[in-house]
Amino acid sequence: MRDKRRIYSIAGTVLSALLIVFCINVLNEDNSASSDNVIYASSNVRSEVPVIRDYTMEGPGVSLEAVKEPAAEVPDENSASSETEAAEAETSAVSSASAKEETEAAGSSDAAGTETAETEAQASEAEGQSGYADGEAIGLSPDWEFASFSAISSGNAVYYRAKENRKDIVIAVNAGHGTSGGSSVKTYCHPDMTPKVTGGTTAAGATKAVAVSSGMTFKDGTAESTVTLRMARMLRDRLLTEGYDVLMLRDGEDVQLDNVARTVMANNIADCHIALHWDSDGLSSDKGCFFMSVPDGLKGMYPVSENWQKHEALGGALIEGLKGQGLKIWSSNPLDMDLTQTSFSTVASVDIELGNQCSSHTDEDLRLRAEGLTAGINAYFGY
Ligand SMILES: [Zn+2]
Repeated sequence: MRDKRRIYSIAGTVLSALLIVFCINVLNEDNSASSDNVIYASSNVRSEVPVIRDYTMEGPGVSLEAVKEPAAEVPDENSASSETEAAEAETSAVSSASAKEETEAAGSSDAAGTETAETEAQASEAEGQSGYADGEAIGLSPDWEFASFSAISSGNAVYYRAKENRKDIVIAVNAGHGTSGGSSVKTYCHPDMTPKVTGGTTAAGATKAVAVSSGMTFKDGTAESTVTLRMARMLRDRLLTEGYDVLMLRDGEDVQLDNVARTVMANNIADCHIALHWDSDGLSSDKGCFFMSVPDGLKGMYPVSENWQKHEALGGALIEGLKGQGLKIWSSNPLDMDLTQTSFSTVASVDIELGNQCSSHTDEDLRLRAEGLTAGINAYFGY
């Protein structure tokens, strides 16, 4: 009996051992499978990352490249990866082309820059010392001295450049009158606001005068402002052929620039200022030409104090020029007159009266005056 029991015991032990070994093997296989699952899951997670980024990272500041790069790492999307690479190759080709275009553009930009510089240099040369272009419309700068005394300043003067025989001298030609509404506004007669020292359109003693008077009417019914504009245009053309640049302070039937504005513009743009007028004296005959000289009472007031000799020298030269054309000069020339123009002028400045309401104003009459005035300007500037 004892032997049978020993045999059963050994057999049980062996069976137990076999069972343990089996169990260990089974467990090992489970571990192995479990490990594979972990790797697979891990792989899935990795492959889904780009998808997640595609949706969650769209928005400002996320570049397409940041999204594309992880997608290219997904092993199951070889075709997509190839497309991506192809796309990237195209992109880099495009980039190269773009870069080339940019380089070429930069090159042409440089060329354009050089051309621009040359054009500017030519323009600068063409503009001469004045810095204004032919045909340029120029407004009153509020920064100019005395500009604040102007009441009508919304209009423009027009600059004309001589193309030949350039003298680099600018003549401001002022076709008298021709500012609608000019007689219903007043401006100070003097920059120091003292009263007028002579009579005229405005009586002596007044501190303010009309901004621009309407002018007289010729005996034949023609408005003075019409004739002064014709005269201004004829003088402009004559001066241009002579090599002077011309600032037309009134370049049309009407300009919204009062006497102060016109004077301040001439001060800052031109070398002299010539205002064209025909006198209204009530006489029944043509008394001839004369200029308005500076009254003694103004000669101590700035800026007249620094400029009145120039005004009178220019006036004298113009009269000599007109005389040289055989035109009649008034026996009482010149006439002292306290004018707004004179009171605010800082360049040689003259109101020239080319006759009166009885004067003939045919083209030939005006041509003679243009010739005479040009001769006077040449003499004043030493030509
Ligand atoms: Zn006048």
